[in-house]
Amino acid sequence: MDLLTDPTITAFREEARTWLEENKPTEARPHDDQAAREFDRAWQHKQYEGGWAGVAWPEEFGGRGLAPLQQMIWYEEMVRAGAPSTGSFTVALGHAGPTIMANGTKEQQALYLDRIISGDTPWCQGFSEPGSGSDLASLRTRAVIDGDELVVNGQKIWTSYAHIADFQELLVRTDPEAPKHKGITWVVMAMDTPGLTVRPIQTIDGNAHFCECFYDDVRIPLANVVGGLNNGWRTAMSTLSFERGMGYLQSRLTIINEVDKLIEEARQRKLLENDRIAYELAHIRAQAVTVHALGYDGVAATSQPELMSSVNQIFNGELSKSLARIAIEIQGDDGLERTEWNGRYLGSFPATIAGGSKDIQKNILGERVLGLPR
Ligand SMILES: Cc1cc2nc3c(=O)[nH]c(=O)nc-3n(C[C@H](O)[C@H](O)[C@H](O)COP(=O)(O)OP(=O)(O)OC[C@H]3O[C@@H](n4cnc5c(N)ncnc54)[C@H](O)[C@@H]3O)c2cc1C
Repeated sequence: MDLLTDPTITAFREEARTWLEENKPTEARPHDDQAAREFDRAWQHKQYEGGWAGVAWPEEFGGRGLAPLQQMIWYEEMVRAGAPSTGSFTVALGHAGPTIMANGTKEQQALYLDRIISGDTPWCQGFSEPGSGSDLASLRTRAVIDGDELVVNGQKIWTSYAHIADFQELLVRTDPEAPKHKGITWVVMAMDTPGLTVRPIQTIDGNAHFCECFYDDVRIPLANVVGGLNNGWRTAMSTLSFERGMGYLQSRLTIINEVDKLIEEARQRKLLENDRIAYELAHIRAQAVTVHALGYDGVAATSQPELMSSVNQIFNGELSKSLARIAIEIQGDDGLERTEWNGRYLGSFPATIAGGSKDIQKNILGERVLGLPR
């Protein structure tokens, strides 16, 4: 299929473009987290009403039931239109929802999916713990079965948006005697459950979107277990593959958009005459476009999903960093007043760690895709 000329694809793109022009929010996303949550909810709800909330979600779960290719085109058009990203709905739409679709029971799907896609409930991810980030399977937050409930005690860290989420996808250890990958359970926790304390962490860029979560005899119904008791590692791997795959698509597309603007700014400032700057801009753009092309290959299912999600993850972080660094250089002294890129530069380092660090992605590529020894 030729993506540039195929009439179905062209018509879909046109429809998306028109809808976005007419419906995208005109005001900026607020900085205050609670206000941002309401902004994200309203925007998600509007997409839902317009039939654009889950382009590739099956129709039975409120989506359009289209192919991942159309989902990708929708994201391309979102970025082109300068429409807001999924914001505090990233976990809900990007991985909790797909994980429940793939592993949840009919009851769980009925309970959660509609409230995600319609823009009702933001989610957060309670996976990482102090000492259990890259080595996630070593997690120690303990859950003991008591009647028809799990009683949870322990701590999570780096939980993005926990302070404004309604639900958490939570990993707990339910069998401490089993080998470490075998005794883990993936469970849904409502964020207003008694015994949960959420404490935001202030970071160097001035944000406090990360939180610590403390669980003190938190009781969660066993009915909230997704994918089976002690089978949470398998469920979590499907969550992470959704997170690293489509989850970063918008951010990669944004990089292409932004590098184009920077090339223009460098041209106006006569900085393209500097070979090094010209080369760096070209290099960033070429890499971003290549990864995007690989994304098309991925949605056409011609490459291994594991390869795609790790490649996406590695490049997303590295390109965000290179882009912010060159932007600061291009803006020179003006950057002291236009501080956006300074914040973006600081904020680009976490992008090489979120969802599993780039070193871990390289290990995955080496071991599972290239078949190298551990
Ligand atoms: C922006 C952002 C958002 C996040 N959001 C969430 C969230 O919502 N929920 C959540 O649960 N977690 C979240 N995290 C946490 C994230 O998953 C962890 O930070 C990540 O898995 C790394 O774990 P760690 O911080 O404990 O570092 P460590 O695992 O201690 O790693 C430290 C360093 O050692 C390297 N390293 C470790 N092991 C190996 C190895 N085997 N081979 C090579 N190098 C290795 C790492 O690459 C890293 O450079 C987020 C992180 C970031 C930055």
